[in-house]
This record gives sequence, structure tokens and C-alpha cells, in this order.
Amino acid sequence: RAKREGRDVVCEFSTLQMQELEDRLVLGARLREAVTRDELQLHYQPQLDATSRRITGFEALLRWNSHDLGPVPPGRFIPIAESLGLMPELGLWVLDEACRQLRAWRDQGREGFTVAVNFSAHQLQRPDIVQRVQEALERHAVPRGMLEIELTESSLMENVDRVKGRLAEIKALGVSLSLDDFGTGYSSLAYLKQFSLDKLKIDRSFVTELPDNAADAAIARTIVAVGHELHMVVAAEGVETQAQADFLREMGCDELQGYHFGRPAPAAEIEARFPRD
Ligand code: C2E
Ligand code: MG
Ligand code: MG
Ligand code: MG
Repeated sequence: RAKREGRDVVCEFSTLQMQELEDRLVLGARLREAVTRDELQLHYQPQLDATSRRITGFEALLRWNSHDLGPVPPGRFIPIAESLGLMPELGLWVLDEACRQLRAWRDQGREGFTVAVNFSAHQLQRPDIVQRVQEALERHAVPRGMLEIELTESSLMENVDRVKGRLAEIKALGVSLSLDDFGTGYSSLAYLKQFSLDKLKIDRSFVTELPDNAADAAIARTIVAVGHELHMVVAAEGVETQAQADFLREMGCDELQGYHFGRPAPAAEIEARFPRD
């Protein structure tokens, strides 16, 4: 009987659901081994001062080149890793690798810029997260102020008081905090007040249709105003054209990031593209 019920359940699955399930199973199994099989890499994307156009930092973005499946885009494997609870583990790899790269660059005389890593919502729920951040900073002798952590609005929503405490401890280690994809989540202004964040990143969806889309322009301008009132740096992501860059600078946006200035690339390519000065 149980078998028949089981089959009935399966029959109700659509082809799409089957594909999703298969994706989860296949990718999940391979992802568990990605770190030990050395299949992960970070790419770095430049972040520029909107006025001087000098590089202020690089965002580290996770890449997975599976031996079995080939390159898998982050939009596909990160949600699966999240739902399988694998992100905190992968996130620790990202944190350590980004700090290692920052140290390697400084040893080459490349300094004066930050490296930002993305944290998943679950990562902040890990009881040992503050200690892990501290260990990574110490292991690679990362100076204060050089590491940034990008958070999403949803990661601030869960266990607010606990998260608030942890973020304060992380900040005390000399790490800056950015709010990623701002405007797409809950965007509660109360949260901005409660967490002492250093930077707001205007989501790409509000940038794409600039300068023509009046609604997006109003939203971007409002985010800049709120961010500045609360003493935050305001950055824009997904800047693809000169017109967008000029428009965002004119409205007071502090930092710009996007394909117009450079796509994410491996460290070696970044070194070739931006020679030491
Ligand atoms: P994000 O943190 O908002 O990163 C920006 C994404 O926009 C990156 O996609 C980047 O390649 C892309 N991008 C940058 N400039 C442009 C542009 O001008 N035009 C367009 N169309 N896209 C642009 P990517 O690398 O595919 O990463 C997607 C998302 O995956 C990230 O969004 C982030 O949420 C997540 N992610 C990536 N690496 C990590 C990681 O190490 N940990 C965690 N938790 N999430 C990560
Ligand atoms: Mg980010
Ligand atoms: Mg973003
Ligand atoms: Mg985004």
C-alpha cells in the first residue's frame, strides 16, 4: 500500500518538479565534494569610486567548475547549496580563500582596496561564525578595514537580536558590513536603523533601465538619500553603460560596480588587467 501511495505522489510531480529534484540530488551530491576535490574558485569584480573612478575594492564571487558536470553557474548551485544546508561550509571556504588572496595581493604590494565576500542567510546563524571570521583574519594577517561582508536583507530578518549581536562582534574585528541587493527584499527602514551597516548596495534591477526609467531613478535617488542620512556609503551594482555610471554619480552614488568597469575574473586576470601602480 505504501508503495502505491508513493507512486501516486510521484505521478503528481510535474516534469519541471522532477527536473528540480534531479538537479538537487545530482548537484547536491557533487557539491558536497566540491571543496575537497578543489573544484571551487573565486572570481573578483572591481568596485570603483564613482568620482575618481579609482578601484576601492573587489567583490569575491564563487565559481564552481565540477569535474563531472563542467562549470555550474552560481544562480543554479547556490540556491541548492542553501536549501541543502551546504552554504555555511562553502561560505567558510570563500571567507578563507578571499582572505588568502587579499594577503597574497598585499605581499605583492597591491593594497589600498578592500575585498568583499557574500554571506548567505544561514551563515550568520552558525554559532561559531564570529570565531571563524576572526580565525580567517588572523590566519592571513588581514589588516583592519580590508575585509567586507555583504549581507542580504533576509539574513537580517531571522533571529534579529542574535544577528545584531553577532554583527556587532564582527564589526569589532574591523570588518565592514554591506547590505546587498538593497530594495529587493523587505527594505524595512527600521532594519537600517537597528544594524550599524557601512554600505548599501542598490540592486541591479534599479540600475538596468537608468537613466530613462523615471521610477527607477526615483528609487535609486531615494536609496542614496536614505543611505547618506544614515551615514552609509551607497554603491550601485550592475552598471553596464557610461550613461548609467554618469547618472549614478550625478545623483550622489559613491561607488559603482558592473560590467562597464569589469566582469568578475580570476585573480591572475585581475592582476594583468589592473597592474600595480
Ligand atoms: P551578488 O552578490 O548581488 O553579486 C552580483 C552579481 O551580479 C554577480 O553574479 C555578478 O557577476 C553580477 N554582475 C555584476 N555586474 C553586472 C552587470 O553589469 N550586469 C549583469 N547582468 N550582472 C552583473 P554571480 O557571480 O552570478 O553571482 C550571483 C549571486 O550569487 C550573487 O549576487 C550572490 O548573491 C551569490 N553569490 C556569489 N558568490 C557567493 C558566495 O561566495 N557566497 C554566497 N552566499 N553567495 C554568493
Ligand atoms: Mg554581493
Ligand atoms: Mg548584489
Ligand atoms: Mg544583485
